[in-house]
Amino acid sequence: MQLVWFRQDLRVVDHRALTQARQRARERGEAVAGLFIISREQWRHHHMAAVRERFLLERVNQLGAELARLGIPLHLIEVPWFREIPSALASWVRERGVSELHAHSAIEIDERRRDEAVAAALPIPSHFVPGCCVFAPGEIRTGKGEPFKVFTPFSRAWLGQLASRGFSLLPTPRPIAAPLTWQAWPLPERSEHEQRVLADWPVAEGEAEARLREFVEAEVTAYAERRDFPARQGTSRLSTYLAAGVLSPNQCLAAIQSGLGVLPMEKGAPGFAWLNELIWREFYRHLLYLEPHLSMNQPFQRHTRALAWSHDEKHFTAWCEGRTGYPIVDAAMRCLKQTGWMHNRLRMIVASFLTKDLHISWRRGEDYFMSQLIDGDLAANNGGWQWAAGTGADAAPYFRVFNPTTQGERFDPEGTFIRRWIPELAALPAARLHQPGPLGNYPAPIVDHGAARLRAIAMFKELG
Ligand code: FAD
Repeated sequence: MQLVWFRQDLRVVDHRALTQARQRARERGEAVAGLFIISREQWRHHHMAAVRERFLLERVNQLGAELARLGIPLHLIEVPWFREIPSALASWVRERGVSELHAHSAIEIDERRRDEAVAAALPIPSHFVPGCCVFAPGEIRTGKGEPFKVFTPFSRAWLGQLASRGFSLLPTPRPIAAPLTWQAWPLPERSEHEQRVLADWPVAEGEAEARLREFVEAEVTAYAERRDFPARQGTSRLSTYLAAGVLSPNQCLAAIQSGLGVLPMEKGAPGFAWLNELIWREFYRHLLYLEPHLSMNQPFQRHTRALAWSHDEKHFTAWCEGRTGYPIVDAAMRCLKQTGWMHNRLRMIVASFLTKDLHISWRRGEDYFMSQLIDGDLAANNGGWQWAAGTGADAAPYFRVFNPTTQGERFDPEGTFIRRWIPELAALPAARLHQPGPLGNYPAPIVDHGAARLRAIAMFKELG
């Protein structure tokens, strides 16, 4: 039997490991089976949000149904920690007579170590193949073979590869055996919070593809103008699907190509701004793979380890709860808590506020985001936090500090987003909304932005 181990690639379309397993099964006259391993303790250790865990498990149930239609059974096993997986898997493959294991390779350090231990423990060959990016992490390098540390040259090289090699979308698999019945994994009732959050992220077959198609047909060319305004639906809202591998980036490229007739390869071309975000996704994945210290809580720029971060718990709690007295920050943080998702502009604003106004370490923000986000993704989250904090690769320069008031005025000019999440301020006119001061239950700003900004700049200057 050929076994496919599904991890962050919960789809049947454009799945290289599944395709490879099916081919080997044909050659050897064997069956194919799928496996998903639930590692709850490990997930908690990685701060995975409860809603993300729920999303994954519901999606696994749907994947089981899709595989069953192809004649492929999906097995589920529970092993609390990664370190227990190699021996559990070794006994499992022995008992079931598995002859080869196939999976997509991981980029995160814990997952890579887990896979190395699995390969060493299994009595059968294991094949880990790239599958999370258009170009395998580590593949895009400078002319000298060095990793890129700056986005623009990386994106140029990435686009060069796309122009010369194209991308390959694997064909949709056909059934290889009679359909099976799928016994769904029993899950407890959704909590109210899960109900609310998951309503935005349906897992049924074809939902993610339909959202992708609709976005490309109706929105992608307007993305560059609309993407920065959180009150508008100007972005794709595909991140949860991409992070869990329900969609592959190749599927995104194929959708752009079929929707626009051509892939936009240059700045300014219709749809290019969106493609560029997919390239950021690849950039951060390349970095995480090539710089393992990023997975270990370390800043990309090592000298910034010496930054003297604040440990003010009151400030941290006010930030988490959306009670900083800065409306755009508070609205964003309340939205995150209630919906498990936040718009990209807001992620940048609140990350800047935590690190540059409250001087609290990006690590705490990164962990808190992970504990709330339904699209939590180590590479993108770490990349985003280190960008905002000024400690990352190609980060925002340390002296450029977002002003939370003018960011609100600029990107939520009518206050539509703020009013939605801060009912205490809903009746205020737009002119007062961004600097309300203390008002009823709504607090005064917990720090003075001007002074906090100077302190942040000084902290970096002190590094020498
Ligand atoms: P779109 O704007 O439609 O972009 C399409 C896709 O491109 C996204 O779904 C995502 O997969 C990718 N993408 C877009 N922007 C980025 C980016 N800056 N970096 C990497 N990939 C990107 N994204 C996550 O998927 N998971 C995270 O945990 C995460 N944490 C973040 C933390 C911070 C502090 C910041 C500043 C950004 C973070 N991002 C994260 C990136 C980005 O904010 C989200 O991907 C985006 O808001 C998702 O919305 P969308 O699907 O509508 O994106």
